[in-house]
Parts: sequence; structure tokens; C-alpha cells
Amino acid sequence: MDAAVVGAGPNGLAAALVLARAGLHVEVFEAESSAGGGCRTEELTLPGFHHDVCSTIQSMLAISPFFGDLDLAARGVRLCRPEVAFAHPLEGERAVALTGSVSDTAAGLGGDGVAYEKLVGPLVAGAAKTSPAILAPIRGVPEHPLAMARFGVAGLPSVSHLVRRFHGEEAPALFAGVAAHAMMPLTSPLTAAVGLFLTMSAHLGGWPVIEGGSAVLVDALLAELDDAGGVAHLNRPITSPKDLPDSRVTLFDTSPRTMVEVMGGRVSARYRRGVDHYRSGPGVCKVDWALDGPVPWRAPVCSRAATLHLGGSFEEIAGAEADVAAGRHPERPYCIVVQPSVVDPTRAPEGKSTLWAYCHVPNGSDVDMTSRIEDQIERFAPGFRDLILARSTMTAMDEQRYNANYLGGDINGGAATLRQTVFRPMIRWNPYRTGTPGLYLCSASTPPGGGVHGMCGAGAARAALRDLERTQ
Ligand SMILES: Cc1cc2nc3c(=O)[nH]c(=O)nc-3n(C[C@H](O)[C@H](O)[C@H](O)COP(=O)(O)OP(=O)(O)OC[C@H]3O[C@@H](n4cnc5c(N)ncnc54)[C@H](O)[C@@H]3O)c2cc1C
Repeated sequence: MDAAVVGAGPNGLAAALVLARAGLHVEVFEAESSAGGGCRTEELTLPGFHHDVCSTIQSMLAISPFFGDLDLAARGVRLCRPEVAFAHPLEGERAVALTGSVSDTAAGLGGDGVAYEKLVGPLVAGAAKTSPAILAPIRGVPEHPLAMARFGVAGLPSVSHLVRRFHGEEAPALFAGVAAHAMMPLTSPLTAAVGLFLTMSAHLGGWPVIEGGSAVLVDALLAELDDAGGVAHLNRPITSPKDLPDSRVTLFDTSPRTMVEVMGGRVSARYRRGVDHYRSGPGVCKVDWALDGPVPWRAPVCSRAATLHLGGSFEEIAGAEADVAAGRHPERPYCIVVQPSVVDPTRAPEGKSTLWAYCHVPNGSDVDMTSRIEDQIERFAPGFRDLILARSTMTAMDEQRYNANYLGGDINGGAATLRQTVFRPMIRWNPYRTGTPGLYLCSASTPPGGGVHGMCGAGAARAALRDLERTQ
């Protein structure tokens, strides 16, 4: 065999596909009974209610060069774009929302609209140049240095610093909500970059969901792989090199720690030390609900968005994220809420809907945050609890039990510190190579990190192909 891939998450499948399309014989070994990793859809609550166990919002897929090269529509993947990319309710009936264009969004920001357009407008205009570089490892001078410099100057500081240019409540709240996806205190460097990049992606791709659930994407990738001659094996946990057939290259869509544990003495002491220093981020506690109808948001714009950021003002969200970083469980947590039924009626029986939300918690937490998350939703949507037909909760440790890659419940494959964002999992010229010939890491613990974009897998596969060419 030419190539073995351990793990059938989006990155493992992307890696397998790039290798198979290059003419290699590839086999994928997935521990669980279904492929997909963070891209599975299941009836978690009641029959007829289809819940994405992990990812739903395909913000990264929509702008990923890897997925851009695939004809996903021909494989039955239909992206449903909400009218509003994401919304952020504030007290009363107020809310701030990111809609398609920069100027429309700016119009909802009162006196801060001009500052928003000045900041975000040029970044969105230059996104075709910067996005591919942001979704790839940093190496040498970027192809478009000026556009990258503009993004870098705005993004390098913390989001706390970024929002100093605004005077009202809305724009800072909007950026707090989107930057907090980083799962870092809002005073941390590069949180502005996360906020700005996700904002750019929302203006460009509209934060869509996949009709029928994220598993539809995995089915499409498996079909592509099959057409290219690749094979995916399920129920095949890899715990030692003996579990793997002989192959010219092996790629791990796992945590770096798992790869090192599995490969043992085949990994150099130097690489092993690097892995020892690699840190996980906070965990998440996620709740899925089957609802008797749509969520009764106080602010009408919230009913037109598939994604909502809950937590109130910038200061409140900053406080909640600081609590998590300090090892505390916030009373009023920042929550990411996803309501796919807004654009995809196939997720639930007629008149009903599905909803999920997660909040950040300290890594390794087994605390059930259901009531605190429901309190936050009820705060902005009174009457929400009356609609609950059933719920399913996963604590951070349940997340790890569900997917070995989510160490301590960290769904991003490693903390988004400055060093680990730029050099992931450690400082190396090529982050996918491990120093052991033929062995590569291709998971979200490599650049560009978490999210369904396939770019870690594609990057690792290209490194492997270059090495194979060199040794032929
Ligand atoms: C609750 C939640 C919500 C999310 N929401 C979004 C979202 O809306 N949008 C978005 O873009 N991203 C989201 N994400 C993140 C996204 O799902 C991940 O970043 C992405 O799935 C990472 O892909 P991956 O291929 O690197 O790893 P994974 O998807 O984690 O796949 C790794 C695979 O490897 C397998 N594996 C691990 N160890 C072994 C072994 N020893 N042997 C064999 N197989 C093994 C696992 O079973 C798994 O199938 C979310 C994640 C979670 C948990």
C-alpha cells in the first residue's frame, strides 16, 4: 500500500483524497463505527430530529481552497445560507447582526458604522488574496505582502485592543461574540485576527449549513475517495504500528499525543518533547434540543440567523471567557447557539426545530452547564424552555469520550495561543512533517487549526507527495 491515513475526520478524508487523486493507493482507518469525526449527524434526541453532533456552520468550508476544488454540489451537498450570517442579541429587543454586505452591517452599528466599514471593508476586498495564506502555514514572505500586512496589523493585537476604535455597545459586542470562537481571553494576542477572519468569512461565504446535516459532506468525501480508488475502514482503532499495514507514508488525523503514543519509538525524542509542550485549550459543554417550534427571540433579527452569539455586552463576554481561562465555570457563560432549522427544514418534523448551543468550560471539565446555557437563551428568548421536547447534553469529558481528538473537551485540537496559532503543533519549517520519514500529522493540530476546511489534511498530503517524489 502507498498511504495509510489514521482517522476519517474532514482532514483525514481530505488528505486521503489528495493522495488518491495523485494516483496513490490509500486506505483510511477510522476508530469509530462511522466516518466523519467532527462532521456527523445523528438523531440525538427524538426520531426525526437530525442533530449535528459537532460542526454545523460551514463558514470555513465555504471559503476553503480545498473544498473549492471539489464539485460538492454534484455529490448532493447543498449549502443553505441564512439571510443573516450571525446575530448577537443585546438587552431588550436590541441585537446586532452581520448581514451579507459590509455596508448593510455597518448601517446597524449606529455611530460606529463608519469605523466598521473602514476596518472591515478593505479586509473583505482583499480576502481573495489573504484567505489562502491565512488557511496555510506561515512560511517566508506571503504572496501578497501588502494585503497580509493590513490583516496582520489589525489582527495581531487582542480584540480588546481592536474594539477601542468603537464608541457604542453594538460593534464591540459583535466582535466579542465572533472573536470568542478562539476560546481565549479577549485580551490575548491574535483574538482580533480570529474575529476579523471569521467576520471576513461571514461577509464572503455567509456562514451556511448543509441541507440534511454535516454528515452529507462526509458521504460526499467518501464517494469521491471511492471514485479515486481509496478505501475507508471503520471500527479500526489504531493503537500501535502493528495495527497498520505496511505503507510508504502514514498520516495521522489525530492529536499529536495520540500519534506519538501509537508510533512509540519511531518518533524522535525531539518531536516527542515538542508534543509534550503542546497545550490543549478549554473544553466545551454542548446541549442539543428538539423543540416544538422556532426559538422565540425577542429581537426579530435573531430568527433570521443560523448562528447566534449569546452573552450580552463585550465586557460580559470578556468576563466569562476570563473565568474559563482561570479554571472557573461562568455563571452567565458566553454561548454559541446554532439553529439550522432556520434555513434547513429537513432537520426536524414539520413545525418543529432543532437547536444546539455550547459554552466554554475549563479543559477536562465534567460539569453539566445545561441550566446555565438555557438561562442565557431564556434571557434573550423568554418562553424558550416551554418549547423543549427533549435534550441531549455532552460535557467536555463526554466530548473527549466521543472523539479521542477532543482532549479534555478541546474541540479545536490545541489552544489558540500566539505560538500555537502560528506554529502548530511546534516550530517547524513544515508543520505536517514529524522528522520521522514517511510519518505526518494532518489533523486540526496543524495549520490552520480547527474547523471544517480540509486544509490541514490537504497540506499534509502535499508534503507527503513532495517527499515521495524526492525519494523516487
Ligand atoms: C461541538 C462542536 C461544534 C463544532 N462546530 C463547528 C462548526 O460549526 N464549524 C466548523 O467549521 N467546525 C466546528 N467544529 C470543529 C470541527 O468539527 C473540527 O475542527 C474538525 O472536525 C476537525 O477535523 P479533523 O479531521 O482534524 O478531526 P476530527 O473531525 O476530530 O476527526 C478525527 C477522527 O480521527 C479518529 N481517530 C482518533 N484517534 C484515532 C485512532 N487512534 N485510530 C483511528 N481513528 C482515530 C476519530 O474517531 C475521528 O473520527 C465543532 C466541533 C465540535 C466538537
